[in-house]
Amino acid sequence: MPDRLNPAELEIDLFVRGIKIDPSCSIAEDGRLLTRTRAGLGSGLELVIPGDLKDIWMNAPVEEDFVYNTPFLLLKGGTGYLVRDTRSGEDYEVRIPPEPKWYTARTSQGTPMHKVGVLQGTYLGIYLSNSCSFWYHSPSLGCKFCTTGLNVGVNEVAQKDVADVVEVAKAAKAESGVTFVHFNSGYAGKDRGLDEVAPFVKAMKEEVGVLTGVQVTPSPNLWKYDWLVDCGVDHFSFCYEFQNPEYFAELLPGKEKLLGQRTFFNAIEYTAKKMGKGRVSGEIIAGVEPIEDTLQAIDYITGVGAFPTVCIFRPTIGSDMERYPSPPYEDMRRVMEYMWDACRRNGIPIGVTPGIEVSLIVSPDDARYLPKRDLKWRGYELKLSALRLAAKPIFARELRPRRVSGDPTRYPAGAPDPVAPMSEEAVVMARKAGLGRGD
Ligand code: SF4
Repeated sequence: MPDRLNPAELEIDLFVRGIKIDPSCSIAEDGRLLTRTRAGLGSGLELVIPGDLKDIWMNAPVEEDFVYNTPFLLLKGGTGYLVRDTRSGEDYEVRIPPEPKWYTARTSQGTPMHKVGVLQGTYLGIYLSNSCSFWYHSPSLGCKFCTTGLNVGVNEVAQKDVADVVEVAKAAKAESGVTFVHFNSGYAGKDRGLDEVAPFVKAMKEEVGVLTGVQVTPSPNLWKYDWLVDCGVDHFSFCYEFQNPEYFAELLPGKEKLLGQRTFFNAIEYTAKKMGKGRVSGEIIAGVEPIEDTLQAIDYITGVGAFPTVCIFRPTIGSDMERYPSPPYEDMRRVMEYMWDACRRNGIPIGVTPGIEVSLIVSPDDARYLPKRDLKWRGYELKLSALRLAAKPIFARELRPRRVSGDPTRYPAGAPDPVAPMSEEAVVMARKAGLGRGD
């Protein structure tokens, strides 16, 4: 490893090793709340690593067991914060994003705003429903790396209200410059995920004027995606986590039993074809299944025109996988450089949407630091600059409130009848008989 890391290498190394906080730091006053949210990935410290291509936002692990052996130390110097690599003695300037003022405000119904939504990087993340119904099975069908069942409702309001979310999104847009609101939910059961998110999306478009993203478990009723686009969805993401079917089955028992990996692929392929390159994400976790499977996942995702969202595995406290090792740096660097190249080969636009920095992953845009800056690299950079310029007026229009045609309270006229929701027991039996949904 070279002595001096570039910003993306530092990001990757911090993801896999974590950081200790020196007593000289006053994070409580300077930084965002270290709130454990969602699947537990956002439980660390938000940092910004400056660089010549772009600043990188990341959420560095601070509390997991593996952080005990980290060589990284956060220090407060005269002019700001530094990350010291105690192996090489190198210091890296970083910023700690301040906690937004609206975090301490309340909505007009009296709900603390930070319990409605939180900034993850520079976008607003809203976890919609009261946890994930995989957790209510006995034994739990929750994904093994996840801690959602332990967190939601503790740090967040369990069931969100449209009026609350509109107020928080307006505050986040006005005070934090948010351009993108991401709705996320665990398994809502009986194909309810898209139905539940639809009114929130429409309110964002008509009352706030922001780009919207939806990440719920996939629906077998693919026409519902058309309906959600009419209600104002700009982006869908699908967390299928592992390409290797054995890892998928073992580590994601709920997704395996009640959905099936093919249901994810069908939804990714359908929406990517409908919405165009880069407007759909396939989300995976690197560092658990063999690396060759992860590379295959990246090829699959980019090959169908989707955007690869690759999380580095974090053994979060309280999850079934908390004793798993954090993955090796060299493997993760290889994966991320491969991801950048797969985007280039497949013409996936990266870093084009304004104002979105995601702190929970190494984005393909962050990964621009990893390859050699040769002709191939420069050609792709030129293409992306042209795309950014061309997209500017489109995004300016999208960031103004506008009417959308979809009606979230009813299915569109002429829509085929939805596949009748099966009981979860019936789905399990059907899948055992080889007839499962998604097969
Ligand atoms: S679907 Fe899996 S990762 Fe998502 S909230 Fe439920 S258990 Fe967690």
